This record gives sequence, structure tokens and C-alpha cells, in this order.
Amino acid sequence: MHRVTLIPGDGIGPEVAEAARRVVDATGVKIEWEEAVAGEAAMAAYGTPLPDETVEQIRRTGVALKAPITTPVGEGFRSVNVGLRKALDLYCNLRPTRSRPGVPVPYHNVDIVIFRENTEDLYAGIERMIDENTAEAVKRITRQASHRIARAAYEYARKEGRKKVTIGHKANIMKLADGLFLNACREVAEEYPEIETEDAIVDALCMRLVMRPSHYDVLLLPNLYGDILSDLCAGLTGGLGLAPGANLGEGAAVFEAVHGSAPKYAGLNKANPTALILSATLMLRHLGEHEAAARIDRAVDTCLARGQTTYDLGGPLGTAEMADAIIAAL
Ligand code: NAD
Repeated sequence: MHRVTLIPGDGIGPEVAEAARRVVDATGVKIEWEEAVAGEAAMAAYGTPLPDETVEQIRRTGVALKAPITTPVGEGFRSVNVGLRKALDLYCNLRPTRSRPGVPVPYHNVDIVIFRENTEDLYAGIERMIDENTAEAVKRITRQASHRIARAAYEYARKEGRKKVTIGHKANIMKLADGLFLNACREVAEEYPEIETEDAIVDALCMRLVMRPSHYDVLLLPNLYGDILSDLCAGLTGGLGLAPGANLGEGAAVFEAVHGSAPKYAGLNKANPTALILSATLMLRHLGEHEAAARIDRAVDTCLARGQTTYDLGGPLGTAEMADAIIAAL
């Protein structure tokens, strides 16, 4: 029996969370789900979007499946997602993306895994107003954080038989901050001579990813570029409805889709649950349940190939029906 914290989130969150929970339960893997709140629901009940109880609960179980949470833009509380990554030191954001059958996209040979540093860079939220017309944000990069994300990427590459790591940066302009990230990653790369290392300036990398995605294998990126390129790579393989992710630290792991809470689709039974379901397969692998993860993966491919999908991929199904189809294909 595994104990897992489930955060239903808001917007489309509760619907995709329920779909993912049902699919995982249908594999027969015994999971005791412990629900926890965050975001607007927590704000109402606890006066904070990220209650200590929620963080403590994830520390206890060590594993959470988290649906998306809305972050107010330009005002209001800070991102719960960023807060959770900081509180639990979830320094490694793993985002795999691969071509799947039946998905209407131009490329069918994409298989890229993104390793995004998850704790610093412009995301550290060090911002201030100099005067009412001038704002400043600090881009903070440390050798220690760059080393550990690089090590996570190279260890993964070695374990999974991946051939190449591409380090993305803008060290030609941000010579100190991005230069440090690049140098720190190269230092780690030296310990993995069997894996090819290349680096790429992030704007050129975007263009080449769109023109020749099959060239890329593992991408190693600082926080902000990692965030942006995750969505770009999701677009190469069918969009946000199919893009899973994991936030990994030493003591805890939080699994969540790349997509957000898509508020305009909330409560409509429209959103594609596959991204969170595939995030749950990453969770099952983390728990050592490889067979169940592989079965869900195959069932998802079967449904996609049959056109049993939601609106975003041109299919006729709602969120709950797509979960039903995946369960039937298991
Ligand atoms: P979003 O990912 O929520 O939605 C962008 C668009 O992508 C949607 O309008 C929809 O067309 C499509 N989309 C997203 N998920 C989909 C799904 N499962 N099925 C089908 N189509 C889907 O991005 P946004 O609109 O920029 O952000 C909305 C809110 O989500 C914001 O408050 C943002 O801060 C938050 N957010 C949260 C997380 C998280 O919880 N990890 C991540 C990203 C954004």
C-alpha cells in the first residue's frame, strides 16, 4: 500500500484529478489517497493559499499528485506551485515529451526529456520597484543548484540509455548568470564522458527544436527557459493536454501536468485528463510500480490511436469519458 497526497487544485483541476485517480486505481495498485488543499480553496479555509498542513502532509507521504492551481496575475498571492517547490526543495523539474500515435502534429519522431532547474533564476521572485515607473527582477543562479540539476539530468541519461544532453543558455548576453549555469553543467558533464554534451543559445535552440526536434534527446535548462521550452516541446507532440511533469527533491516528489488550471474550461467536463494521467505514470514509476505505469502508457496510446480523445485533439470525449476509455483499454 502506497500513501499519496492528492491535491485537486482548482479550475479544471478537480476534474482531471478525479480522472487520474480513477485510472491509477483501475491498475490495481493499492494507493491510499490523502486529499490536501492549496490555492483558492485553502485561501478560504486557512487564510493562506499554501497551508503548512499541506506541506507537512506531503513531507509525511513523500509523494503527491497535484492538479493545477490558479495564480492571480500581477497581484494577489504568490504562486502556490513555486511556493511548494521552494518549501520542499523540489529542485528538479522533469518533463518528458514524446510523439504518440494518432495525434495530428507535423512530427512523429519526437522523444525529448527536459530537466529544468526549479528553485532559482528569475523565478526566485526577487523583485522590487525602484520608483513607480521602474521595476527590477533579480536573476539568481548558483553553482550548487546548477550542479545538482545537471547531475540529475546526466544520471537520468546514464540510467535510461540516453545519448545526448543539450545545455540551453544565453551566456553570450548574461555572461555571469547564464555563464555560471553553463560552466557548472559542463563540470558535471565531464564525469559522464559516454554521454555527448552540446550547448545551445536558447533562442536558436527554440528555432531548431521547431525545425528538427528529432535532433534532441535530453535538454538541461535553467528555470525560466525550462518553463518556456516545456510548452514549446508540448506543442510539438500534441499540446498541453498530453504533457506530464514531475518535481523531484531529496525527500519529496510532486507530480503534475505542465498545463495550468485553464479556468475557462472549469466544470465543463472538457479538459484532456491525459497530461495528469501521464504524470501519474511518472509517479507510479517513482513508487516502483513500473508494470502499472507501462500499462497506462499503452492504454493512453491505444485510445489516442483510436481517436478516443477530448476536444483539443479533435476527439468527441469529455474528461470523464476519456478516463473511462483509458480504463477500458487497460
Ligand atoms: P493553461 O495551461 O491553464 O491554459 C492555456 C490553454 O491551454 C487553455 O486555455 C486550453 O486551451 C489549453 N489547455 C490547458 N490544459 C488543457 C487540458 N488539460 N486539456 C485541453 N486543453 C488544455 O495556462 P494559462 O491560461 O496561462 O494559466 C491559467 C492558470 O493556471 C494561471 O493562473 C496560471 O498561473 C496557472 N498555472 C498553474 C500551473 C500549475 O498549477 N502547475 C501551471 C501553469 C499555469
